[in-house]
Amino acid sequence: MTCDELLRQLTEYEDGVLPDVVCEELQRHLAECEPCQGLRGDLESLARICHSCAPPRMPDDVRKRLAERLAEPSR
Ligand SMILES: [Zn+2]
Repeated sequence: MTCDELLRQLTEYEDGVLPDVVCEELQRHLAECEPCQGLRGDLESLARICHSCAPPRMPDDVRKRLAERLAEPSR
């Protein structure tokens, strides 16, 4: 996907939800493309339209508690 295509997808789907496949491509592109990362602040819609396919993320405090639990010797 080129930068132009990415921007076109973003505007095209501004009011809707991107198909998962497109969304994955967008995120892959953003991860590798510096110019688009610079644009990212302006592309708030990306987070909104991609929220439906974002991988579930464990909250940091939960992750920390789990790590502590695992580090404890079993009683
Ligand atoms: Zn780009």
